[in-house]
Amino acid sequence: MPANILVIEDEPAIQALIAANLRRAGHAVHAALDAETALRQINESLPDLILLDWMLPGMSGIDLARRLRADGRTRGVPIIMLTAKGEERDKVAGLESGADDYVTKPFSPRELQARIQAVLRRGRPQASEDAVEAGGLRLDPAAHRVTAAGSPVNLGPTEFRLLHFLMTHPERVHSRDQLLDQVWGDHVFVEERTVDVHIRRLRAALESSGLDRLVQTVRGSGYRFSVAEA
Ligand code: CA
Repeated sequence: MPANILVIEDEPAIQALIAANLRRAGHAVHAALDAETALRQINESLPDLILLDWMLPGMSGIDLARRLRADGRTRGVPIIMLTAKGEERDKVAGLESGADDYVTKPFSPRELQARIQAVLRRGRPQASEDAVEAGGLRLDPAAHRVTAAGSPVNLGPTEFRLLHFLMTHPERVHSRDQLLDQVWGDHVFVEERTVDVHIRRLRAALESSGLDRLVQTVRGSGYRFSVAEA
């Protein structure tokens, strides 16, 4: 699955290494040394995927990710965060800023490749393009639109797929492991906690409509989409 990938990394040697690996794998690569330059490039042409270093001079990777997620034009572009920090709380902060996955430096070209493929696969439309509707929530896969009580809801690509899966398999408990299989597909490198982060983001997006209550936690088991009270 060749893609247009934008690499934002301020260390020239690392940037060159990543770019060479991606080109070898058949991808078209653009690169930027800072967030400001990246924004100008994104403004000109939208990449299929962004590899984003956490620590950048000027605007940080986290701030850039937030900014891209807040803009309707760039909201759907998958972001993989590159970080030298291995601490769990940093990973979670990275995901919460809007990244779809993270890779901790140093990483092997094979690991990076696998994560890129997984994130790109996730972005592909679900098998069914039929709109689903339940409890005041409507999800239209063809238009990539969600409305809650008639108002538009902005979701990142992973939350969209997660909600789509939950809505098409309602009133059933899904374990984190099952959700990883169904929504993430190739989850070799994804931890179960990642599911919790994306569920939290999904609920936060639905909160103002009150429909976050449809996405229910089943203690000790997993999550359920239900129009009945928890
Ligand atoms: Ca850096």
